[in-house]
Amino acid sequence: MRKAKGPAVGIDLGTTYSCVAVCQHSKVEIIANDQGNRTTPSYVAFTGTERLVGDPAKSQAALNPQNTIFDAKRLMGRTLEDPMVQLDMRHWPFRVVRDNGKLKVQVSFKGKERTFYPEEISAMVLAKMKQTAEAYLGCPVTQAVITVPAYFNEAQRQATIDAGTIAGLHVLKILNEPTAAAIAYGLEASSEGERKHNILIFDLGGGTFDVSILRVDDGIFEVKATAGDTHLGGEDFDSRLVDHLVREFRRKHKEDLSQDKKAMQRLRVACERAKRTLSSITIASISIDALYKRVDFYTSISRARFEDLCSDLFQATLKPLGKALRDANINKDQIHDIVLVGGSTRIPKVQALLREFFNGQELSKNINPDEAVAYGAAVQAAILTGNRSQGLQNMLLLDVTPLSLGIDTVGGVMATVVKRNSAVPTKETMEFTTAEDDQDTVVFEVYEGERPMSKNNHLLGTFTLSGLPRAPRGEPIIEVSFSIDSNNILTVSARDKDTGNTSQLTITDTRGRLNREEVERMVREAEEHRAQDGAQQEKIEAMNSLESCALHLKRAAEGIRALDVQAKKRVLEMCEETTSWLEDNPLAEKEQYEARQRGLEEAWGSVFSNVSQSQREEEEARGEEDEEEAAVAQHGEEEA
Ligand code: AMP
Repeated sequence: MRKAKGPAVGIDLGTTYSCVAVCQHSKVEIIANDQGNRTTPSYVAFTGTERLVGDPAKSQAALNPQNTIFDAKRLMGRTLEDPMVQLDMRHWPFRVVRDNGKLKVQVSFKGKERTFYPEEISAMVLAKMKQTAEAYLGCPVTQAVITVPAYFNEAQRQATIDAGTIAGLHVLKILNEPTAAAIAYGLEASSEGERKHNILIFDLGGGTFDVSILRVDDGIFEVKATAGDTHLGGEDFDSRLVDHLVREFRRKHKEDLSQDKKAMQRLRVACERAKRTLSSITIASISIDALYKRVDFYTSISRARFEDLCSDLFQATLKPLGKALRDANINKDQIHDIVLVGGSTRIPKVQALLREFFNGQELSKNINPDEAVAYGAAVQAAILTGNRSQGLQNMLLLDVTPLSLGIDTVGGVMATVVKRNSAVPTKETMEFTTAEDDQDTVVFEVYEGERPMSKNNHLLGTFTLSGLPRAPRGEPIIEVSFSIDSNNILTVSARDKDTGNTSQLTITDTRGRLNREEVERMVREAEEHRAQDGAQQEKIEAMNSLESCALHLKRAAEGIRALDVQAKKRVLEMCEETTSWLEDNPLAEKEQYEARQRGLEEAWGSVFSNVSQSQREEEEARGEEDEEEAAVAQHGEEEA
């Protein structure tokens, strides 16, 4: 018999938070995690005894900053040399290292140094989302649509697919986040019987800001342009509040807490909470006991002050808006809908600026901004798995290429074959020729980027076409085709028109794309982790069981009056000894805990069997009397 396969889910794998949703019977449900939260922090923490994912990982971050990994999405598909990585590294409390030429994060886990690929960390977050969905749906979930920012390049998309595979998910599609939000929105719009044309998706999340312009035409979505800032979001607003309060603390208490990592993290958590409060009321209070050098910190902050502290950051969202409009070649007044995505769009000032930019146009807020992307991904997952209900019927999807793609030609100039923002899937063909007489081999270098000189763009890979017949330069005709499938995966092929010889590019990605063996190894390791996590759970249960057994026997030995003094002493000593052994051995094996518990139970059994039947009956009767007395006393209390 096979286990029933659950529905495909949609997962918004965010930089700071992730969200999972399912679309069943034409209805989308956002699935809450085991803490009851509808979004889960994209955090993984490693401790001396266990691995934590999501809310528990984030809440212990202050105590364990070096081993708490977040922002893994920023590392996906990148190398250590990447300037963005270099810049980000300065702000992360965890270590990013090179291991066998690949970028990894380094942590101390169960007392040992361990390194993990960013894909593995993201896989742990995805596995958590998978578990959340499984717990809700009551069946295994093996298929998902996962979203990525529209600007993600090939390597970043591939890394996301790898993360899904490691987590035990078959990734049906990598979907652009704004497209996902638009799908969610499109569904809402059509349920009101409206047809919309141009939509602007304004996505301000925890760490990133993205603007996308989509065209919806008769059920077809097309991404016309994208722009944004990869380092602008809620965390920057939190930082402004933190800096402000550090200054205030220094002024009030003549102490600088900025070097104390733990105090700073506690302050940051309080600031984030205050920021959220300021989206609904105009003043928020902050109180942190013993923040630094035992000084309690009580203060408050007004919305006006918060807006002033962040005003340049809020203003900075307007520039990419203009750029996206220019790229899409449309005016402000041609935007029919402005859709808010990302938790930070709840900030009233952000909304006010946006409304003002669009001359008072109303903003679409009917989709919960934290959940819109997962919502759309769930709808797409349902469509891809054949769950085509009425509302979903005519929806086709078009994405665009985030960067131009082309090949290097004479003089180091890049010849663009597929233009940036082209709709995908796509296939473009261009003719090339030889640069020298009697050239029998051509080496193709495939680049992505917007700069005219290839060297300033990013090399995706090279391949060779050989066996060209001798001919003067410029005579052979070589057709080069770029084809991009619906997952934005690129295949480049070259064909000599004369001989029909062909050659194709296997992308050997230099930005740290994992090879198949590595992915397979990580899938295995993730499996092992699951087993380890299960074993860890059993171990903790055995430890708890021994502890409660010792406590229980101690109470019993003290309570039974018929027990002989020596026997009682022996039992109490054994219980005492067990408790202190437990304190010294938090990392013992499950079998050790179980053996000790058996020993304890046997000792108790032999002591108790010496108590005669009549004495036991007497004890029991006394026990019942005690219970009655207790009940009467409690009743009295209630009445009083
Ligand atoms: P996202 O990554 O889209 O889930 O956005 C998360 C960011 O939204 C975090 O920085 C949160 O602090 C921020 N956020 C969530 N709710 C609010 C709110 N009510 N007001 C302001 N920011 C919020």
